Amino acid sequence: MANENAKNFANLETPGYVGFANLPNQVHRKSVKKGFEFTLMVVGESGLGKSTLVNSLFLTDLYPERVIPDATEKTNQTVKLDASTVEIEERGVKLRLTVVDTPGYGDAIDNTDCFRSIIQYIDEQFERFLRDESGLNRRNIVDNRIHCCFYFISPFGHGLKPLDIEFMKQLHNKVNIVPVIAKADCLTKKEVQRLKSRVMEEIEREGIKIYPLPDCDSDEDEDYKEQVRQLKAAVPFAVCGAGQQLEVRGRRVRGRLYPWGVVEVENPEHCDFIKLRTMLITHMQDLQEVTQEVHYENYRSERLARNGQVPKRHTSTESGLSEADSNGLNGSNEDSSERERVLREKEAELRRMQEMLEQMQRQMQLQAAGGTTA
Ligand code: GDP
Repeated sequence: MANENAKNFANLETPGYVGFANLPNQVHRKSVKKGFEFTLMVVGESGLGKSTLVNSLFLTDLYPERVIPDATEKTNQTVKLDASTVEIEERGVKLRLTVVDTPGYGDAIDNTDCFRSIIQYIDEQFERFLRDESGLNRRNIVDNRIHCCFYFISPFGHGLKPLDIEFMKQLHNKVNIVPVIAKADCLTKKEVQRLKSRVMEEIEREGIKIYPLPDCDSDEDEDYKEQVRQLKAAVPFAVCGAGQQLEVRGRRVRGRLYPWGVVEVENPEHCDFIKLRTMLITHMQDLQEVTQEVHYENYRSERLARNGQVPKRHTSTESGLSEADSNGLNGSNEDSSERERVLREKEAELRRMQEMLEQMQRQMQLQAAGGTTA
């Protein structure tokens, strides 16, 4: 496993190759046959390069028909969620990738309501999964829960903005947050390092829980351990994206052309794009597991405690009642059993009276017969 991952890391450095064909190393055979489902959310102010990065990451144009709103439209706009799904196939392995974009985030003059629709969207996916999971057709559940959220931080500030802090605090218990510094090509190497340390200090000081890259097992391959160490040290990943392919010294590369030269997206000397993609591909399964075991479990237990359904469902199975009985019909059920009990008592009383009458009649008959004989 460790060796395989080490090899994957090398493959990921090949331009024009996403690298998820290596997923079979991480996941069970069944999911490979069915295809792999993954949902990524991207959040950040508009213009930070979210769509460009997503297109560069998966080498596909996820937003061919996007209309960019102008400034007046933007200030009145609320956050809209926009889910695009693409199926990508590499070496026979299918990835059903859904990217949820959040246009309008941070655009309004008053952004206090910014998170509501995002929280609602995440909760709706959990709710749908919860419903499907307790339904009959559990084998074919489509998992639309958000497995990872790239949070884009502006390269032009001196750290996190109040909006960034507030967003991460409101969502860190619902989704795996991976912070990224957008448009890293606008900063010098020194500035990137300074901004990264500032962001990490603020994350720690504010008690924000970002996705923790898991520690390696002690028996893992040394190369793999080194890769994970590098990935951990690179957080928040300083990235840049580009839609164009350019020719640099005879090689075709994805890059941004400036008067003084080319910024190569997939060159580790220029930005952390490759590290971000490696992190995503090699940790897809872990991101899904944390979503299932931590975030979904949080939602499920809160939801059940809020509705008080756990004890109810328990009682219903014990008493052999259907779920409908336990969901609100309990009151009338108690009434009807009380009525039945009274009826049963009355019937027993009538039966007793009948028996007494029959006994009296028998005695009278006996007396009458005795009187005749006497
Ligand atoms: P979004 O609104 O966050 O989805 O941003 P877009 O992807 O639409 O990009 C907004 C603008 O920024 C476009 O003109 C892009 O060409 C440019 N852009 C995107 N990524 C980068 C980057 O990494 N560096 C720089 N300098 N510009 C970028």
